[in-house]
Amino acid sequence: MTTSETLRNTSKDTLRNVLTRLEKEGAALGHFNVSDQVLLKAVIAAATETKLPVLIGASEGEREFFGARQLAALVKSERQECDVPIFLNADHTHSLAKALEAAKAGFDAVTIDFSALPFEENVARTREAVQAIKAVNPVILAEGEIGDIGTGSEIKETAQGGKLSTPEEARQFVEATGIDNLAPAVGNMHGMLKSMVQGNAKKHLDLERIAQIKKAAGVFLTLHGGSGTDDEHFRKAIAAGINIIHINTELRVAWRESLDKSLARDTNEVVPYKILRPVVDSVKQVVSSRLRLFHGRPVSREVVGTVA
Ligand SMILES: [Zn+2]
Repeated sequence: MTTSETLRNTSKDTLRNVLTRLEKEGAALGHFNVSDQVLLKAVIAAATETKLPVLIGASEGEREFFGARQLAALVKSERQECDVPIFLNADHTHSLAKALEAAKAGFDAVTIDFSALPFEENVARTREAVQAIKAVNPVILAEGEIGDIGTGSEIKETAQGGKLSTPEEARQFVEATGIDNLAPAVGNMHGMLKSMVQGNAKKHLDLERIAQIKKAAGVFLTLHGGSGTDDEHFRKAIAAGINIIHINTELRVAWRESLDKSLARDTNEVVPYKILRPVVDSVKQVVSSRLRLFHGRPVSREVVGTVA
């Protein structure tokens, strides 16, 4: 079988199969948020360039701007022409109605997020949403969230969140809700501090806690708020049990900086595709570099290691 045949075959994989395969390979699936077609083009170009699968994400706000059904239709169309697996996640979904809307639109996964509610209420509302989306299509992966990692993939003045999820609440939450993957608070945070955008500071994860939660939860684990995380921590977090890594703010920063630059280059330029082409390219570079890291390509063996 040739390489291209292998890739074509894997592109028919379900999200669950891809996650299982990547876990065995010591890799994680990159989740990249899109607000518009510029970002979508960038993520797909990166997947094509690296020949690595991707999970495209859109939060409620991003879906509202893009159109949930319109985004699903575009991803479906891209998938038919792309040799690598491309999946679509309804990120941070805060109501049963929005979860059902995404499930019916053809999303492969839904991040059900009632983490701002007290634990028991989070359990009840998440369980209800899991059952509802599985009734639409049992293949859809349901993600649930516990703990506080702040909100908004933006540039921030001060750190948010802080309290880590415990292995015991992770176990209880998975058992009571029937979720397929869990997003815990393990030192991660939505958004980036200014010092992180400037490259002067990095996020650090509690790697031991990740390993404990993985053991207790026994399901796929998702790391939200990955932007600005130390490279070595990413690799060690994957070794400790992280299966999906969310990157959003890094893409937004690259989008904004390259758009500013592109607009300033020639103030008489009015052709959108000429202005936007360099923006697609800049965002693509960020996505490709993160994908390679999550698949262990640029990191030496010693760094990959296992968590002590
Ligand atoms: Zn998130």
